[in-house]
Formats: sequence, structure tokens, C-alpha cells
Amino acid sequence: MNSSSASHPLRVAVVGSGPSGLFAVDSLLRTAPQPVGIDVIERLPTPYGLVRYGVAPDHAKIKSVITTFAKTLSDERVRFLGNVAFGRDLTLDAALRFYDAVIFAVGAPNDRALGIPGEDLPGSMSATEFVAWYSGHPDAATREIALHAEAVAVIGAGNVAIDVARILAKHVDELKPTDIPHHVLDALEASHIKDIYLIGRRGPAQAKFTTAELRELGELTNADVILDPADLELDPASAEAVESKQILKRNLDVLRDFAAKPQSGKPRRLHLRFLTSPVEIVGTTAVEALVVERNRLDELENAVGTGAFETIPVQMIFRAVGYRGEPLAGLPFDAKRYVIPNDAGRVLASPGKPLTGAYVAGWIKRGPTGVIGTNKADAAETVRSLLADLPALPRAAEPDPAAVDRFLEARGAHVVAWHNWLEIDAHEIELGREHGRERTKVVAYEALLRRLREAREREARPVS
Ligand code: NAP
Repeated sequence: MNSSSASHPLRVAVVGSGPSGLFAVDSLLRTAPQPVGIDVIERLPTPYGLVRYGVAPDHAKIKSVITTFAKTLSDERVRFLGNVAFGRDLTLDAALRFYDAVIFAVGAPNDRALGIPGEDLPGSMSATEFVAWYSGHPDAATREIALHAEAVAVIGAGNVAIDVARILAKHVDELKPTDIPHHVLDALEASHIKDIYLIGRRGPAQAKFTTAELRELGELTNADVILDPADLELDPASAEAVESKQILKRNLDVLRDFAAKPQSGKPRRLHLRFLTSPVEIVGTTAVEALVVERNRLDELENAVGTGAFETIPVQMIFRAVGYRGEPLAGLPFDAKRYVIPNDAGRVLASPGKPLTGAYVAGWIKRGPTGVIGTNKADAAETVRSLLADLPALPRAAEPDPAAVDRFLEARGAHVVAWHNWLEIDAHEIELGREHGRERTKVVAYEALLRRLREAREREARPVS
């Protein structure tokens, strides 16, 4: 590697093109004191990570941040290298030949398990799988989900549980204008679901919902919300928390409105349950019921079983109990918190000892919490650390972007460049237009890559 006095523009790789990665790119573009060149390395052929494949399809307003991210990726100082997997196509050692620093913003792709009997029965799935399916994630391209169940349970009292419950509760016509793939719309149209149980293990004051998401449940045209007012009785510590925290107060107000509202005979019913833990999923060849235990809160606000059990007949179960980060080749990993250990975004090889040139941002840095905007300040902190370290960082030996291109080509990587993505983007918009929709997502990797190859062949064809 060269000395820190090297005169080449600052070269940074950002691994992951979701919100935390793209906020990091934006922050670098705005705050780096010297010229900068950034490669955004993405495992998928498509950009935007969880905004494209996690934000619910009926949350168009949240998804509109894509317009800002597209501007960031269109900046002439930025290159999108899609279909390039860190670990498979590039290691940290190799990357540090081409880049002065690497920011890992890879999110937390795995789901947490419940750890109860029956969890692996057919019909029990993680929200991660279900969200990937309805979002048209290429990893779920071959997944078939039939909604033949009449009653389902969604476990968890967070916003992902709300997203899943809302998508299941809506009439398919409400979802047709979104970018949901056609095969998913067909499955939603054939849904038999009548009852959806949303189950939180602690009380309403400990639920992780944000108010806007909770309020939306009361606006469902296809489902009544059912909530026992007794579930909203608070122990003294919860009552105090609600008094002191605005978000909890607002959530309680919304929940009290739900409990007071009479049912109006809508086709589906969304039952909100608190202080209820799943203890067993029952079934022989598939889910037949969920056994739950009534809880109380201890002095630390943890859920403690009371010994009162109930069996709820449900035929599908969606676990929405949080995400987990996964280790990356050649990087340290905190196997208790499922994050990469770091100090203000600097990856730590061991306590107090930074791993030279390696940084993290987003969920792999702080854990799977916060809304999209939370990643802006998080990424800015990482970029401040990187820029502060820069004078002492060894500089890349091969900073020419063509060098990394040659390296990836030699590894057999089929890179999807920004202009290739724009082709796919235009194709999806065209597919949507045929059905009066804003866009229809292309799901299969193969279809995406075929379009890329066709585009390349067109480019290579001599002009007659
Ligand atoms: P979350 O907010 O951490 O909620 C996870 C829920 O699962 C909690 O209620 C938790 O209860 C419960 N849980 C964990 N283990 C459990 C177990 N063994 N049994 C029963 N319940 C269990 O996570 P999330 O819903 O996956 O959301 C992740 C982040 O994305 C959040 O920050 C969320 O706000 C954000 N998000 C935002 C939006 C939006 O803005 N529209 C949409 C989706 C996601 P305890 O509290 O008792 O642990």
C-alpha cells in the first residue's frame, strides 16, 4: 500500500446499497474535504436494499426516498457495482488494494427464532420470508405461499408485525396499484383469511409500534380491529412510562380508540393481543393451532408466564420478532448482539483495536432498530470517523477504478452497472403501465440478468 500522502482521490467502497449505505455515500460526497470516488457494491442486481425489498409495498411515501437515493447513485463520483457479492467476489484484503476504506452497510438479513416446539412446521414462517415474497425479493423468487388459512397469527409487537398483518388484512384491490409482483397478487386474491391475531408478549406500553403505523390499522376498509379493553389496563410502572413518553401516550390513545370502536362486520378481523406469549405451535403435518400463555410484567418490565394457557386455532404463523445480522468473511462478529463490533463505525478487531480501513453503518453496526431516517445520522457518524482517520490510513495501491473492474471480471463476476439497472427500472415501469400500475417488479434473478445480457449485446452490436 502507498503512504498516506498519496495524491489519488479518496477511494471508498460501500458494501450494501440500502438506506445506511446510500446515506453513507451521500455523507461522503457532501463532507469529504478532497475529491472522492465511491463504488457501491451490492449482492443483488438491484439497488436500494430494504427500501425496495422491506418497506411495505403500500407505503409509497416511505419508498419515495428512492428518488433521493437515485440522485446519489447517479452522481458522477459514484459507481453502482450490482450483482457483486462481498465474500464471493471480493474480500476485505482484496478490496483494500483498490480502496482506501470500505464501509459495510449490509443490514441484518436473518430472522430471530421463537425457540418453541412446532416452529418449523409447514405454515410457520418468518416475517423475513413473507416480506421477501410479497416484496419480490430475488431470493424468494421460487417461493410459493398459499393463503388457504382462515385464521393466522402474527407474533411480535413491532412495525414489521404490523406490516405483515396489514398486508394480510387488506383487500387485494387495495394492493393492486402497488409494485407487488403479479404472482403475489394472485395469492392474495385467493386468500381465505378471516381472522388475524397480532400477538405481543408484553403490554401495550412496551410495544415497539410507531403511532402512524398503528393508526393505519384503524383505517383498514377490509378489517375490523378487535381489542379487549382489559388488555389496556396498565401496571403502575407502565402507566408512568406512558405519562412520560409522548409516543407511548399517542399509541395508548390509538389503542383505546380501537377498543372502544364497535365491530362493523368487515370481511376480516384483526385481533390485537397483549401480554401473550406463544409457547407451542401444534400440528402433525402443518400448523393447526397456537398455544399461548398469558403473561404479567415483572419489575423490569419483562414478560413472565402466569400459567394460564389458551389454544388459538390458526393454520399459519408469521414470526415478526426481529432481525439478526450475520457474520461477514474476514470481519469480526459479536455473536451475542449479531453486529460487527465497532466504535462509532470503526470496525474493532478486538476491544479498542480498529481493523484498519474497515467501517460499518446501519443495522450491522447498531442492531436492527430504527426507521429509515435513523440511518442518516448513523451513517454520518461513520463517515466522520473515516474522514478523521484518513491522514493515518494506508492508501490503496491500485486506486484506478479500472483495476477493480479487471479484478471482478477475472473472478467471473457479471457486474450490473448503474445504466444496466436503469434499463431494468424502465422495464419494470413499462410492465406496470400495461396493467395501469406504477411499476411491476421483476422477481427472478435470471430475468434481470437476461435483460442485462440483452442490453450488453445491443451495445456491442456494430451500428450499420
Ligand atoms: P422490533 O421493533 O424490535 O419488534 C420486535 C417485536 O418482537 C417486539 O415486540 C419484541 O418484544 C417481540 N419479540 C421478540 N422476541 C420475541 C419472542 N421470543 N416472543 C414473542 N415476541 C418476541 O422489530 P421489527 O418489528 O422487526 O422492526 C425492526 C425495525 O424496523 C424497527 O425499528 C421498526 O420500527 C422498523 N420498521 C419500521 C417500519 C415503518 O416505519 N413503517 C416498518 C417496518 C419496520 P419485546 O419488546 O418484548 O422484546
